[in-house]
Amino acid sequence: MAGTYVGRFAPSPTGPLHAGSLVAALASWLDARAVGGKWLVRIEDVDGPRCVPGADELILRQLATCGLVADEPPGWQSNRSALYQQALDRLLAAGLAYPCACSRKEIDAALAARGQIHQRHGERVYPGTCRHGLQGRPARAWRLRTDAPDGSDLLIDWLDRRLGPQRQDLTGEVGDFVLKRADGLWAYQLAVVVDDADQGITHVVRGEDLADNTPRQIHLQRLLGLPTPAYLHTPLVLAADGQKLSKQNGAAELDLADPLAALVSAGRTLSLPSSLPASGRDAWLEAAVAAWGRSWPWREAG
Ligand code: GLU
Repeated sequence: MAGTYVGRFAPSPTGPLHAGSLVAALASWLDARAVGGKWLVRIEDVDGPRCVPGADELILRQLATCGLVADEPPGWQSNRSALYQQALDRLLAAGLAYPCACSRKEIDAALAARGQIHQRHGERVYPGTCRHGLQGRPARAWRLRTDAPDGSDLLIDWLDRRLGPQRQDLTGEVGDFVLKRADGLWAYQLAVVVDDADQGITHVVRGEDLADNTPRQIHLQRLLGLPTPAYLHTPLVLAADGQKLSKQNGAAELDLADPLAALVSAGRTLSLPSSLPASGRDAWLEAAVAAWGRSWPWREAG
C-alpha cells in the first residue's frame, strides 16, 4: 500500500475548523499514515461568496497546531478553473452535459405541471426541460445528464468502508445536476472529481454529511473515464440539540489552546481506544496511527 495510497482533507474556507471538521481531518490523516501513504490538503474555495477571507490560512494553522501537516504544499481550487472548464468541454462534446436556461421559478412550474413538487434537501430534481435544447433562450447554467443510456433511471451502487453497500437512484432522487452555476461558479461536484483525479487521490475520507454526494461524483468519474477512489465517511459530531454540527449553524471554532484535548475528543468520535497515551500531542498521534492500523474496523475495504 505504501507509495500507492494518496489521501486528502479538503476543507471549504467558510470559517475556522470546528470539532466536526477536525474528525474528518484526523481520520483522513490517520488512514494515510497507517499505511505509510501520502496526505494532501486542498482548500475548496470555488464558492467564493461563501468563503471567509483568511479562513484558509487559519485552517492550515489549526491543522498544524494539531500536528496534521500535509506532505505537499496545499492547493487552492480557485487556481484550477482551466481544468474544470476542460472537463466540462469534454462532457459537452460527448453530449453528456448541456446548457440550461431555466430559472428556479421555471423549474418549479415545470415540476408542478407534472404534479411533482419533488424537493430533496430543499433542492429540486430538475425535470430535464433543456436536455433537448434551449428553445432560443440564453444559457444560464450547465448540467450533467443523469439518465442511463437507454433512458431508464441510473442506479449507482457503491461501497462505503464504514456504512457498507449503498445505492442511489441518481435520476429519480437527484436528477440532472449543475456543473457550472448560473452565477458562473463551478459546482463542488465537478471540482472535487477533477481534483481528486488530478491529484491521484486513492482514498477519500470525509464526513458522513457528504455520503449522499458520492453517487454524483462516481457518475462523473465514470463519464470522464477517471478512477473511483475508495470512500470512508466518518461519523458526524452532533451539536447539543442533536443537529449536525456545521460552520453554518455557528459551530464554535475549536479551542486549540489544548490541541491534545481536541484530538482526544475527535478520537472519541472515531471510536479510537480511550487508552491512548495522553502525555502529549505527538505521542497521542503516534499511538492513534498504530491503533488505526492495527485494529480499525474500517481499515481497508477493497
Ligand atoms: N469541501 C467540502 C467541505 O468542506 C469537503 C469536500 C470533500 O471532502 O469531498 O464540506
